[in-house]
Amino acid sequence: MRKGKKKSQQKVWLTRPSINRLWSLVGLLALIVVASFWKGCSGTVSISVNAPPIHPAVSAFDGTRSFDLLVKQVEFGPRVPGSEASQKVQDFIAQKLKEAGAMVLRQPFVVTYRGKTYQMANIIGVIRGRSERKVLLCAHYDTRPVADQDPNPSNRDKPIPGANDGASGVAVLLEIAQVLKNYQPPLTVVLVFFDGEDLGDVEDGGMFFGSKHFARNLTVGEVNLKAEMGVLLDMVGDRDFASNDEWYSRRYALQVVTGLLQAATQLGYQRYFFRPPTLVILDDHVPLNEIANIPTANIIDFDYPYWHTLQDTPDKCSPDTLAIVGKTVLQWLMNLKP
Ligand SMILES: [Zn+2]
Repeated sequence: MRKGKKKSQQKVWLTRPSINRLWSLVGLLALIVVASFWKGCSGTVSISVNAPPIHPAVSAFDGTRSFDLLVKQVEFGPRVPGSEASQKVQDFIAQKLKEAGAMVLRQPFVVTYRGKTYQMANIIGVIRGRSERKVLLCAHYDTRPVADQDPNPSNRDKPIPGANDGASGVAVLLEIAQVLKNYQPPLTVVLVFFDGEDLGDVEDGGMFFGSKHFARNLTVGEVNLKAEMGVLLDMVGDRDFASNDEWYSRRYALQVVTGLLQAATQLGYQRYFFRPPTLVILDDHVPLNEIANIPTANIIDFDYPYWHTLQDTPDKCSPDTLAIVGKTVLQWLMNLKP
C-alpha cells in the first residue's frame, strides 16, 4: 500500500531552480514538488550496440546477505548519534569493511546542536581499483532520534528503528564491498558512512552533519578522498521501490544519473530509477555537490509511508529491492572507464 504524497516532509522542498541555499529558508516545509521538470527525459535511456556486457560482479551481489546486514543494524537499536548503538554500528561497519579487504578510516568530529554536544564519526572504507581515480559511494548510518511523523502522537518523541531510513543504504554498500573483494573495480571506491544526517531539523541546521564535515575535510589521515563523482543511497530498502527523479542530482551530477540509468537499463531495472515527478530533496548529496564539488546523485525512494515513524522496520523492506539497487550501482561502477 502506498501513501499519497501529502505529508510533512523534511527533505522535500518546493523551490525554483535559482534558489540554492535551501536550508536557510523557512516556511516551504511540507511541500512536495509535483512539477516534473525533466519528465520527458527521465527513465528512457537507449543502449548503444557498444554497451558493456553485464558484469559478473552483478550476480555476486546477494540480496539476502544484504538484508541480513540491514536486520543486524536494526537489532543494535536506534543508532542515534552518541549512543551505544551508534558505537556498535560503527564497529560493525568497520569490521565488515575490514573483512572485505578495504582500508578503514574513522573521521571523528564534534557537533553542538540545540545546546547539546555530540561525538560523531564518519566511517570510511577505501577499496583499490585499477586506477587511483576515485568514485564515492555513501549512505548515512545514523537514525532519527524522534519519530515525528508517527500517526500516534505519543510515539513522536521516541527514536525510529530506521530499517529503511538508515540501515538500507549501509546494507547495500557493505554487500557491494564484499563483492568488490573478488572483482576489482576500474576506479578506486571510497565508501563513506555518514553520522548525523537525521539528528534534528533543516531550519536550524540540524541535519547532514556527517556529510558537511566530510565535504569540508576530504583528507583523512593523510589520505586524500576527493572523488570525481559519487552516488548517495538513502531509503533504498522499501518493498515497493521506485527511486525519485531528483533535482540536485540532475543539476550537479547529470552524468551520474545518466550512467546509473544506463546500468539499470542493461539489467532491465530502468523502471525503478529516477521516476518522475522530479523532487527537490535535501540530503547528504547537497553538501557533496555544493561544498566538495563532487558531482553526486541521490538514489532515494521518498514514497515511504513509514518515514520517520516507529513502523520503519525490516518487514517493510525487502532483499529484492536491496539487490536491485546494489546490482545497478555495481554495474555502473564496472562500466566506468579507468
Ligand atoms: Zn530520515
